[in-house]
Amino acid sequence: MERDARIYVAGHTGLVGAALVRELDRRGYRNLVLAERARVDLREQAAVRDFYRETRPDYVFVAAAKVGGILANDSYPADFIYDNLMIATNLIHGAYEQKVEKLLFLGSSCVYPKFAPQPMQEADLLSGPLEPTNQWYAVAKIAGIKLCQAYRRQYGCNFIAAMPTNLYGPGDNFDLMTSHVMPALLRKFHEAKQADSPEVIVWGSGQPRREFCHVDDCAAACLHLMGVYDGEEIVNIGVGNDLSIRELAEIIRDIVGFQGEIVFDTGRPDGPPIKRVDTGVINALGWQPRIELEQGVRATYDWYVSYKADHRG
Ligand code: GDP
Repeated sequence: MERDARIYVAGHTGLVGAALVRELDRRGYRNLVLAERARVDLREQAAVRDFYRETRPDYVFVAAAKVGGILANDSYPADFIYDNLMIATNLIHGAYEQKVEKLLFLGSSCVYPKFAPQPMQEADLLSGPLEPTNQWYAVAKIAGIKLCQAYRRQYGCNFIAAMPTNLYGPGDNFDLMTSHVMPALLRKFHEAKQADSPEVIVWGSGQPRREFCHVDDCAAACLHLMGVYDGEEIVNIGVGNDLSIRELAEIIRDIVGFQGEIVFDTGRPDGPPIKRVDTGVINALGWQPRIELEQGVRATYDWYVSYKADHRG
């Protein structure tokens, strides 16, 4: 991307979008196109079309999405499928109409089948049934991938799609009812320590295995792909290792300095038993993650504590 290119980061207030803006800024890109939800509702086709016409971006990162953890996905299936289908359709079709130079669509590792062989390779897409808890989100994201591929085939659009593994980092959603496991546990352990509670409840059996990638690594990977990759196939973004939810809880307990017990609530869903992406493709394209899990969790915890301090009252 040329330094003065107009770069639209859709979803710039979210976890990934904000990290993309930080990384673009760090690399000297100054001509960013950003819009709050109040300015353009990405679920509205006419609004998106007008916005594209007005701002004429050269490059687009689709980091906008309705996202949430295992409970939110299960509780709001209509919102998850509708919002994400509309956002993907409007932004991708609009980019075609506006003759955008290149677009990167962000999906998620939950597009892969529930029992895909581990680690999950790009070719495993659509090879089996989805995990029921997040199938609504997954179907919308798969539609987004297929839109990119279809516009490439029919119109020659340079639209690519990246599938990050579970992400975490500063700016994450710490609401216990809608968040993913990492921010939820940081908050639960922090509050338990503050309140001197004897225990922290962790959902599920603690056995599921997940891979966690710091969002700053993900942003760097997205910029890398924007620079070097022009293919139809999706590309995974991950770190190449996983751990159990129990192990994650223990790491967070130690970082937070909580002295009590960890209790597993097996009445809560586990979701897929394991979720890890194969990173052979992106590694071969010349990208590697930099942030170790413990270092990243510590930094995220520090961010959470200072954010809470700034927003109290
Ligand atoms: P997933 O990766 O799509 O399954 O989404 P999550 O990040 O929400 O959940 C990952 C795993 O962490 C699941 O097995 C959850 O049951 C487990 N987990 C344990 N405690 C929590 C919690 O407090 N919140 C969430 N969201 N998940 C939790």
